[in-house]
Amino acid sequence: MTLPLVFVHGGATVFKEEYHASILEAVKEAAKTGLAALTKGGSALDAVESAIWILEETDLFTAGRGACENLDGEIEVDAMIMDGNRLDSGAVMAARDIIHPISLARFVLERTPVMQVAGNGASRLYDVMIKDGYRTEVEPRRTSNIPIASENDTVGCVAVDEHGRIAAGSSTSGWPGKLPGRIGDSPIIGSGVYANEIAGTSCTGKGEQILRVVMGRMAVAYIESGASVQDACDKAVRVLRDRTTGEGGLIMADKEGNLGFAFDTPHMPIAIAKDEKVSYSSMIPSLTEL
Ligand code: ASP
Repeated sequence: MTLPLVFVHGGATVFKEEYHASILEAVKEAAKTGLAALTKGGSALDAVESAIWILEETDLFTAGRGACENLDGEIEVDAMIMDGNRLDSGAVMAARDIIHPISLARFVLERTPVMQVAGNGASRLYDVMIKDGYRTEVEPRRTSNIPIASENDTVGCVAVDEHGRIAAGSSTSGWPGKLPGRIGDSPIIGSGVYANEIAGTSCTGKGEQILRVVMGRMAVAYIESGASVQDACDKAVRVLRDRTTGEGGLIMADKEGNLGFAFDTPHMPIAIAKDEKVSYSSMIPSLTEL
């Protein structure tokens, strides 16, 4: 298997057809950017942060510039990033008016002794991050109120560096009209995102259902018990379907660069970058094409 690699998704949902080409371009660009970070000597965390940053910067997903409003007309975003080998992570939840919560999640991971920061605390930490020069301020302009996806869509990434070190992450605003303060699976360790020294995953779909089965940790545990990466993905989506009303999907990679994905929604845009190029991308990925 080839290392390093970057595996990106743009959410398990239904996307309007006229946006498919732009969405595919965006996931390809994100995967390419993540891989460039790795080939320049960056870490798997650098790859995940930079890939998700690209997706947050577009207005195509309900994350970053495309984030949607909650019932009060406010924008609250969630993001998480996890370093599998350190078993350490950073997450921000219900953070207001931040375009790139993935960078703030990284700041939580790298520069604070805690793992999860929510609400006003996240906004205050964002100011500290900018003041410290950890990342530069980004104009909090949002460009889209057009619902491109049917309801929700989260962006996510798993990256494996050349030594087999794994990182994973996600970024979302949930769905339009969500309850203010609502937090889904995406920033919750083990549900929306999980990585250890064996494998990493980023999940997407109906957060309240993914939380019930702790889908990310479950999928990685299957690999620890001997399942292939693809079997682990299939089993995780099967459990989500059998035990909840959930719809969703996930992408996974293990430390050797074996890949898998599964989803039960009409679309789950993905892109894989390895061998210095985007080796695969699709709105409706199929194993036979991989
Ligand atoms: N899982 C996300 C949430 O519930 C949404 C998504 O993945 O599309 O917030």
